[in-house]
Amino acid sequence: MDFLRPASWEEALAAKAEHPTAVPIAGGTDVMVEINFDHRRPEYLLDLNRIGELSEWEVGQESVRLGASVPYSSIMEHLRAELPGLALASHTVASPQIRNRGGVGGNLGTASPAGDAHPALLAADGEVEAESVRGTRLIPIDAFYTGVKRNALEPDELIRAVHIRKADGPQQYSKVGTRNAMVIAVCAFGIALHPETRTVRTGIGSAAPTPIRAKEAEDFLNAALDEGGFWDNGKIITPAIAKQFAALASGACNPIDDVRGTAKYRRHAVGIMARRTLGWTWEQYRGAGRTLEGAA
Ligand SMILES: Cc1cc2nc3c(=O)[nH]c(=O)nc-3n(C[C@H](O)[C@H](O)[C@H](O)COP(=O)(O)OP(=O)(O)OC[C@H]3O[C@@H](n4cnc5c(N)ncnc54)[C@H](O)[C@@H]3O)c2cc1C
Repeated sequence: MDFLRPASWEEALAAKAEHPTAVPIAGGTDVMVEINFDHRRPEYLLDLNRIGELSEWEVGQESVRLGASVPYSSIMEHLRAELPGLALASHTVASPQIRNRGGVGGNLGTASPAGDAHPALLAADGEVEAESVRGTRLIPIDAFYTGVKRNALEPDELIRAVHIRKADGPQQYSKVGTRNAMVIAVCAFGIALHPETRTVRTGIGSAAPTPIRAKEAEDFLNAALDEGGFWDNGKIITPAIAKQFAALASGACNPIDDVRGTAKYRRHAVGIMARRTLGWTWEQYRGAGRTLEGAA
């Protein structure tokens, strides 16, 4: 196995163009497991660790440009206000050691349906900045996951960054696992309220071949919130609306039975998480509204 060590992003792109089968390695927390278990024996490893810019982020007016290798621990420490859903999801990843090494670029590269970043990215609305020597393109997060552990990257492309809309309202992330730490999700649910556009977005993990949004549940909720004037009156969401939202989120799942849980359990748990996270975020929204009214 040859180890390619580019010193700059341009060198990394050139190396990937020359060796499209080269496997990029960032934190290595997925790649090294595969190599150690002999599940993968790449001809070339492309080490991205000398490229400092991949571990940097920029907070813009509307979005955060998160370098592909920014570790989960930095997201938790520095981007909690801008990316609350992703920060909460980062908290649930593995252990401090893994959170210091692993990042969103690697989660996207692996594209496991159980990856914790995905539901948060789907709910917040993100775009993946993919680049090759041929140029740069932004891939909407909805279009990024193409199959079980497959993504929309071309063989010569690398992920440079992820652009994630800054939170304009409360966000939550909920994960079911067999214990609280070092656990791959049995299933997970992310939700983001977007008061500016009066929409709610969701993300479901580990309950379908790819990470998905619960689009019917979103459409139903967006219409119900609109019709009831909830965004303006800040009333408690009725149990009937919350129940239907949960049922539609559950119905969006297409899970399998595996060692971590049954399909039936996953559908059920996603419904519960959808209802709970909606309740949590809506309470936060109402609380923020009351504070603003009080201050005015
Ligand atoms: C003990 C343990 C526990 C874990 N627990 C969790 C968990 O709870 N939740 C969770 O989501 N994950 C978990 N993981 C998996 C892993 O930590 C995450 O998927 C992490 O985000 C991977 O990031 P990385 O930088 O280490 O990726 P790497 O291992 O370096 O790479 C992962 C994949 O992405 C590709 N890649 C990396 N960077 C780029 C790039 N810039 N452009 C294109 N492709 C790229 C690599 O080629 C590879 O295919 C766990 C892993 C271990 C070992």
